[in-house]
Amino acid sequence: MPEGRPDRTLAAGLEYFRDLGISEVFLSSGMHTMPDLASLQKYLHECPRCKLSGSRQRIVFGSGNPNADLMFVGEAPGREEDEQGVPFVGAAGQLLSKIIEAMGMKREEVFIVNTVLCRPPNNRNPEPDEVASCRPFLREQIRLVAPRVIVTLGTFAAHAILETDEPISRLRGRWQAAHGARVMPTFHPAYLLRSPQHKKDVWADMQNVRDYLAGK
Ligand code: URA
Repeated sequence: MPEGRPDRTLAAGLEYFRDLGISEVFLSSGMHTMPDLASLQKYLHECPRCKLSGSRQRIVFGSGNPNADLMFVGEAPGREEDEQGVPFVGAAGQLLSKIIEAMGMKREEVFIVNTVLCRPPNNRNPEPDEVASCRPFLREQIRLVAPRVIVTLGTFAAHAILETDEPISRLRGRWQAAHGARVMPTFHPAYLLRSPQHKKDVWADMQNVRDYLAGK
């Protein structure tokens, strides 16, 4: 289309959707499937797709074993993660490492990723448009790692992975299936730091996961 001329076909299409009552249109990520995690990380270099790109220091890509059987999905990077470019390195991350070790595994054996790859300002909750922008990249990381089990940490990860809005208190501890994996929703380690009385619930969930992975 010549520059400066309005695209009548696009305008008519958008009017049609508006008349159907659709008020939001998400642009596609433009991404085709990637051959490996390194290519996806390179593809995301300086990602400008959502407003978090204006305030983040670094994109916090998933980290760990690219062939892991077990993947943890968190919420969003915090200050330390934003500074270092690595997920779960702050206080919640240290607790997550202890949980993984208590399961008899090492952090390097699992893959850890967040629902959104960039830090929301002042650690606010990620907003729906930010989760939607990042969703194709979360999905692609899951596809490439192909874990047997995904543990979702907290509300945002459970909702993004399971495409539900059930409260985490109802989802927690109940096996689900999504993205070719079994999914175990549990509480976020940051929540456990504030409410340690729920550590026993998370431990029960992680014993379930450990036993499943061990074929028990
Ligand atoms: N909380 C998260 O959900 N992810 C991190 O990387 C750190 C804290």
